[in-house]
Parts: sequence; structure tokens; C-alpha cells
Amino acid sequence: MKERIYLDYNATAPLRPEAAQAMAQIMATPHNASSVHAYGRDARKLVEDARTNVAALVNVPPAQIIFNSGATETNNTVLKYFSQERILVSAIEHPSILEAAPNAEKIPVDRNGIVDLVALEKLLKEKKTALVSVMFVNNETGIIQPVEEISALAKRHGALFHCDAVQAAGRIKIDVPALSIDFLSLSSHKIGGPQGTGALVLGLCGITPVLLEGGGQEKKARAGTENVAAIAGFGIAASLADINEYKKLETLRNNLERELKKTSPDIIIHGETAPRAANTSLFSLPGAASETLLMAFDLENICISNGSACTSGTVKPSHVLEAMHAAPAGTVRVSMGWNTKSSDIDRFLEVWSKIYQRLKAKAHA
Ligand code: PMP
Repeated sequence: MKERIYLDYNATAPLRPEAAQAMAQIMATPHNASSVHAYGRDARKLVEDARTNVAALVNVPPAQIIFNSGATETNNTVLKYFSQERILVSAIEHPSILEAAPNAEKIPVDRNGIVDLVALEKLLKEKKTALVSVMFVNNETGIIQPVEEISALAKRHGALFHCDAVQAAGRIKIDVPALSIDFLSLSSHKIGGPQGTGALVLGLCGITPVLLEGGGQEKKARAGTENVAAIAGFGIAASLADINEYKKLETLRNNLERELKKTSPDIIIHGETAPRAANTSLFSLPGAASETLLMAFDLENICISNGSACTSGTVKPSHVLEAMHAAPAGTVRVSMGWNTKSSDIDRFLEVWSKIYQRLKAKAHA
């Protein structure tokens, strides 16, 4: 069996070795950041150092970071806080937004997967809106939203702005004050930190939405004993995140897409001309099934995704591609990250070419 190739960073990134090493050491001793003894004081320092590093990633003072269990929790915390009021969300949000706010009204996107600003303004003019929630970078397509314009529109109409920046963190610049973001979601495991931790980043609107109560942790904003080792790992991953390094993945992505178009001229690359995070490519092959493609890659020991939610082993049609009016077809997402090498893309292309030829031969048989 050939070496396993991992090209599914948008699902989760491999843990940075620096984070793994620090976490193993921290977990070897009892750390509760609320304890007054020496271990407790050590724990408090670990948490506060991590807060400083995570805050720097999004250009806010450390006091505006609330650690929690991840972006699903942040999205639920923010959206549920506004549940009695009018909320607008884009049609391509993550399920942790869409399902946390089932009554939210949807802002459509264009064929490039970009929020329709005219439609957003129309919705904002119709009725008073409490919150607009639009993600920074889409997890399926990598398409970057015009966050500055969306935030300005929300503000002009008296609404607050939440941004799920899970897939943007460490990949593109995030400046919370410059973008007037009121609430921002971050997830540790998408940037090479451990799973099960993340942050709610507060802007300056003065509201702190609280989901979990019962303890004084995180200045009463998030009850529950801090996951000290994971938070420390998150902080280390945040300090290692390098936007310029990430930009280099664009060369790999462009090579990938150029070669894909050569071997398979009928391929559709989603959002090809839209601004995209450098690490993601989502493409479809008309006439193929996603499951067949995923299984064929899996047999070759290559880990990829079809981009959309996979529940109980069944691949559902993507709500993101549906919102972009993309025709149904076999879809593959390649997402790269800090440990992706050009040889990984070469292997992927080699296997793609084999699978493609096999599918075409079958179609003509
Ligand atoms: N939002 C987006 C855009 C995501 O990609 C994900 C992870 N798939 C989440 C939210 C949920 O993050 P977490 O795993 O930290 O709960």
C-alpha cells in the first residue's frame, strides 16, 4: 500500500508537532486554571499565553477572546442569543449556523458563491434586523466573502455582524476592529491545534452572549473547567499560523487545477474566478457520483472529501452548491495545509487521471 496522502485540511488539519509535544507535557500534570496552587498558577499562565496568541491572530486585545469547545459552540452561542429577533444568514453557512437559527432568513449567493449584496441590502431595508451572520471563507469552496462590505451594510442598517472565520484563520488576514466585526468564530483544529477547543472573539458592541452557565470561568462568559492542554495547543498553533506561508499553497492549487483541466476537460471548478483561500479546490465531474470518486481515492490511500456534510455514511447533496445553482455532479474537494507537499498533489493527479480514464472507458463501453 502506498503512503497515505492527506488532502482534507478543511475537515481537520493534522496537529502541529509543537502543539502535540506541549500538550503531552501539560496533560502529564493536573492543571486547573482556577486553582490557587502552583499547578493552578501554571495553568492560568498557559491559558493567558494562549489568549495572547489567539488574540494576535485576529488583531484584538486578549480580553476579547473567550475560549470554548470550538466553532460549533461559538456559532450556537451567538445565534441562539438573538433567537427572538430577526437574523439574516447567508445560504452557504455551516450547519452549526443554519441549524442553530432555523428561523433565520437566507441571503442568496451568486453563481460564484458570493453573497448578493443587493439582496442583502434589500432584506435589511425591509425590516429591522438584529444580526447578520456571514462566514469569511466557505469550507466547501474556499470562496472568500466581501466581509468588509457585508459588515458595513449591516452597520448602516443598525444590525450587528457575526462572522464564522473558521476557514479563514491563518489563511488570510483577519482584522476584527478594521472590519467592525461584533462576534467571530474560531476553531483550533482547522489551524493545526487540537480538536475540541476554539474561541468566541468579541468586537466592541458590548454584548457577551453566554450559552453555558454555572462557573466563573472565562469571566463568566463560558462555564466549565478550561481544557488547559487544548487551549495551550490552540495558542501554539495560532502563533505558528503564517499567512505568507499559506499563500504559497496557491502555486500548488493552480498547478492542480491546470493539470486537472488538461486531463479532464469536462471538469467544473467551482468559484474558479472568485477570490478564494489558497488551499482549497472544489471541482465536479459531470456524470460521476461523489461516492464513487471518494471510494476510488480511498482505495489508493488518498484522503479527500466531497466538501459537503456526510451523515451516517451517506453523501448528501451540498447546500452550498445548490445555493450556487451548480448542476449535480460528482464533486471532490482537495484542501491543503501546513504539511502539504507538491509530491502529494502529484500523487493526487496521477490517481485522478487513472480514475478519470476508467470512468470514461466505462461510460463508452
Ligand atoms: N464553521 C465552519 C465554516 C467549519 O468548517 C466548521 C468545521 N467543519 C465549523 C464551523 C465547526 O467547527 P468545530 O469543529 O470547531 O465545531
